[in-house]
Amino acid sequence: TMEFTDRVTRVEPSATLAISALATELEAEGADVVDLSVGEPDFPTPENIVEAGKDAMDAGHTGYTTSAGILELREAIADKLADDGLEHTADEIIVTPGAKQALYEIVQALIEDGDEVVLLDPAWVSYEAMVKMAGGELTRVDLSDSDFQLEPALDDLEAAVSDDTELLVVNSPSNPTGAVYSDAALEGVRDLAVEHDITVISDEIYKEITYGVEPTSLGTLEGMADRTVTVNGFSKAYSMTGWRLGYFAGPEDLIDQAGKLHSHSVSSAVNFVQHAGLEALETEDAVDEMVAAFEERRDLVIDLLDEHDVDVAVPEGAFYMMLPVDDDDQAWCEGAIEDAHVATVPGSAFGTPGYARISYAASEERLEEGIERLAEEGYL
Ligand code: PLP
Repeated sequence: TMEFTDRVTRVEPSATLAISALATELEAEGADVVDLSVGEPDFPTPENIVEAGKDAMDAGHTGYTTSAGILELREAIADKLADDGLEHTADEIIVTPGAKQALYEIVQALIEDGDEVVLLDPAWVSYEAMVKMAGGELTRVDLSDSDFQLEPALDDLEAAVSDDTELLVVNSPSNPTGAVYSDAALEGVRDLAVEHDITVISDEIYKEITYGVEPTSLGTLEGMADRTVTVNGFSKAYSMTGWRLGYFAGPEDLIDQAGKLHSHSVSSAVNFVQHAGLEALETEDAVDEMVAAFEERRDLVIDLLDEHDVDVAVPEGAFYMMLPVDDDDQAWCEGAIEDAHVATVPGSAFGTPGYARISYAASEERLEEGIERLAEEGYL
């Protein structure tokens, strides 16, 4: 018999799996499930990007690339980061198969047994698993009492961090709350990071998807350039989830260390996908259209919930919101899918019981149908 390692057995399978298993089962029985559990845009990848991918294949860009990614793309990413006020050379950037791989490599490079990592809850599900696989210990700061905003909870963050804290993960706009942290909140993070010599991951994968706010990149704050690792990717802004393309930028010594993990595991991101990424970075109108659609849907869902006297923290970015539900959010989500055939993700998967995450990356018709069914079945 096989014996499995601690690092893999101490990680739980994702709580979202139970919900998608139920959804699949119901659909197989012929049920019409309104799926509000997905974490991806419901738009096709913009045509110009698809064409660029095909052209790159036709042009023979099908071999290995430099491990860190083709220079043209790293230079284009450096330009994009410079627009956001982040100064990085192409040598300080690694292109990865998705932002998830970037995060995995960063955590593997920085965290070992017993190292303390601080998360702001609710937090994206994979941070916890990545930290546990690296042997790290989690300290979690709950933002649910402050409408998921960080600024009012800075005292709690201050109480949570110490000189023993190795790493803090900040994700703004946030999955699952849609919160965009204020400049004052980020300055608070900076002060604590500098005081306690903490490295900060700034996961900015939803940065392009905001509604009337311009999120500040944490690495632009004074004192943060040499302690911030900025992560971004193409999945959400350009509706490219299946292409698997992301990147991280940080201090050169981190890039050198993480680069070893990168070259000995994935080798590189896919060659022609990197060429499509170059085209994506030039794409503006299609992104603006998707963001405008998300904003309309956000407003629609807020209005519909308001009609049922349900108040939610209004998201300013990404395409999720947290719906307050029963304390036993797992049971609520299972009930909602069984009775109303509406799939959502329990807040406990993100460290925050008592909520369900709704993704509004769905058509207005399906969003209306979903909310109506939840109301009819007594879930609102
Ligand atoms: N970070 C956050 C907060 C996410 O929500 C996701 C995807 O759901 C990722 C990172 C990873 O995205 P990808 O690996 O598709 O680039």
